[in-house]
Amino acid sequence: MMRSDESAVLAAVPQRLFIGGAWRDGGEGATFAVEDPATGEAIAHVADATPADALAALGAAHETFASWRTSAPRERSDILRRAYDLVVERSDALALLMTLEMGKALSESRAEVAYAASFLRWYSEEAVRIDGRYSSNESGGGRILTMKQPVGPCVFITPWNFPLAMGARKIAPAIAAGCTMVVKPARLTPLSTLMLAKIFEEAGLPGGVLNVITPASSGSVMEPVIKDPRTRKLSFTGSTEVGRSLMAQASEQILRVSMELGGNAPFLVFEDAGLEAALDGAMIAKMRNVGEACTSANRFHVAAAVAEDFAQGLAARMSSLKIGRGVDPDVEVGPLIDADQLDKVAELVDDAVTKGATVLTGGERVDGPGHFYKPTVLTDIPEDARLLREEIFGPVAPVKAFSSEQEAVAAANATEFGLVSYLYTSDLQRAWRVTELLETGMVGLNQGMVSNAGAPFGGVKHSGTGREGGPEGIEEYLEIKYVAMNI
Ligand code: NAD
Repeated sequence: MMRSDESAVLAAVPQRLFIGGAWRDGGEGATFAVEDPATGEAIAHVADATPADALAALGAAHETFASWRTSAPRERSDILRRAYDLVVERSDALALLMTLEMGKALSESRAEVAYAASFLRWYSEEAVRIDGRYSSNESGGGRILTMKQPVGPCVFITPWNFPLAMGARKIAPAIAAGCTMVVKPARLTPLSTLMLAKIFEEAGLPGGVLNVITPASSGSVMEPVIKDPRTRKLSFTGSTEVGRSLMAQASEQILRVSMELGGNAPFLVFEDAGLEAALDGAMIAKMRNVGEACTSANRFHVAAAVAEDFAQGLAARMSSLKIGRGVDPDVEVGPLIDADQLDKVAELVDDAVTKGATVLTGGERVDGPGHFYKPTVLTDIPEDARLLREEIFGPVAPVKAFSSEQEAVAAANATEFGLVSYLYTSDLQRAWRVTELLETGMVGLNQGMVSNAGAPFGGVKHSGTGREGGPEGIEEYLEIKYVAMNI
């Protein structure tokens, strides 16, 4: 039974496509259902975009780019700032909406709304700081001038695990830079993005700068847009598998690409780490977003001397978490996004246990409706367990002991992914030595979370290319034009 506040936030969402500043139905009038993962019930019916709708959205972005590219930086900054204020003002409603479509606990949704908002504020500040350089030709004769100009119409594809922040992290720098865009949120969680578009509309963003399409089926609808010569940039957050195929599509028009892909984060705990601090960090790195984060600690590599204490401490904390529907205020662990994700997590745990792993806590689904899995700690992890190599995307923590720093670094890097690693030690020299050797785009040094609007978020190897956030984030939306000046 839906509560009245839940019905109210759902009723406020425009469940249609947003193209050229107008809300409209899908070309064929079809819709698809969005479900609450805690109950499996349909909570909204969103317009199903056709390939023609997607091309119309690109057309609007292309047409609007001609004027938006020369808009005043201060105008773009003010719009972003107004959108920031509106998101903050409505953060309770946005958080409830997010929990309804994605499942995570309300406290987590509130944190994500604040995180998403922080990109709007950060890039409202960056919009007026786009610059170039001026220098003398080394022979002294001429001058070298560079200017930065918006890349052009962009296509954004975002995942379901952070329904608001993954879009905001792309939309905000693109608006700041003077780009226009077509955004396609995940089919499972389109509502937060639609609300963000409505907020931008209220904040005075001209129609056609931000267009949102919600196709039920992504591949056939997005491919023509990605391959259309009017598109100049593709930014994708999602799985490595899909990212790889989108990079191939993007090669047709030689698009600028940003790829925020999968992770397999190692969490290293040295014996000098301080057990409580390491456990605090481990809980954040593992349990944020029920483990459904690309930055989620996928494997804990712990010095043999403290491995047993660490695993027991982690199991005690994990088993005390309250599981339930995310909208209940004291719930700490919500459901996984859908039945497929639940099956995948269960399969990875069963694989490890069959091959010899020991379950300290959890290791099973929760009976009843919704896609719940118990927070799980495993030890005695066999080398061939799939969860050491594959992204778990759930509340499962495998703990493996190491006996030397060299072994720890080798284990950490034994993956094709390279998004983030975590390192707990109180030895300063070791901290820098190991940090330099870790093959990841980001390192959490004695902290379990790296996400920050002012920092360049992104990975290496199969975790992607490009950075989001910080001063680096806006460069993804700017081309450099060099002018050779004869004086
Ligand atoms: P996914 O790759 O299945 O889907 C991501 C998006 O791509 C969705 O909008 C989906 O509808 C769309 N999509 C799927 N197939 C497509 C196709 N053929 N053409 C065009 N679009 C297509 O990923 P997911 O399951 O939604 O998200 C989880 C993954 O995202 C994990 O691997 C996670 O690590 C990754 N992720 C990475 C980051 C990061 O910043 N590196 C952040 C969050 C999530």
